[in-house]
Amino acid sequence: MAVNEQAYREIINELSLQAVNLVAVSKTKPIEDILQLYSLGQRDFGENYVQEMEGKANQLPKDIRWHFIGHLQTNKVKYIAPFVHLIHAVDTLKLLKEINKQAVKNNRSIDCLLQVHIAREETKFGFSAAELEDLYQKNRTELQELKNIKIKGLMGMASLTDDWSRVRNEFNFLKTIFDQLSGYPVANSQLSILSMGMTSDYKIALEEGSTMIRIGSLIFGEREKMA
Ligand SMILES: *Cc1c(COP(=O)(O)O)cnc(C)c1O
Repeated sequence: MAVNEQAYREIINELSLQAVNLVAVSKTKPIEDILQLYSLGQRDFGENYVQEMEGKANQLPKDIRWHFIGHLQTNKVKYIAPFVHLIHAVDTLKLLKEINKQAVKNNRSIDCLLQVHIAREETKFGFSAAELEDLYQKNRTELQELKNIKIKGLMGMASLTDDWSRVRNEFNFLKTIFDQLSGYPVANSQLSILSMGMTSDYKIALEEGSTMIRIGSLIFGEREKMA
């Protein structure tokens, strides 16, 4: 099996000294690999395809906390609404409304993170700082009406680059926005989670205030390249 148990233990040790959670990103990886990590005590797993997450959740122990970390389409929310633990990459008010609607249908509350666009690449998703400002001020009333969602924090992905000072600046920018938004009195928003850092940049993210890292290839090995 491809799971790197030693790398996993090292990360867990590193994080135990800080109040940081690890989401093991299991996308494209088989059930057996997830179970191997589960047997070591890991309970938080991240997926970014709706069907794949649904299929795995059906086959795996019920105490796994499933994190949806990919770009979520409005018409797919209903498939994960019954069981998802945390949706990391919410990037529009429209999507928040749909999550709220599906949460009502399932008689539950769904925790969300707002994705912030911090990278240079235009292709990445997320709110800009100005759009977040609008959401929390201009659209505040509408936002507060969504009583079955809870905004628990922010998520961001840094530029794909080995210019580490750039990556650091982007994470630092996200932390600044996090601190600013934390002060806004919005009933269904209590920001405590800052989801930033993956295999290549998680050490920088930790230094810049991350409270949740999403690690895939370092633990599970490289993924097959998608066509
Ligand atoms: C795939 C993915 C990760 C994990 O990436 P690695 O580089 O393998 O650690 C983290 N976050 C998101 C949003 C992803 O899609």
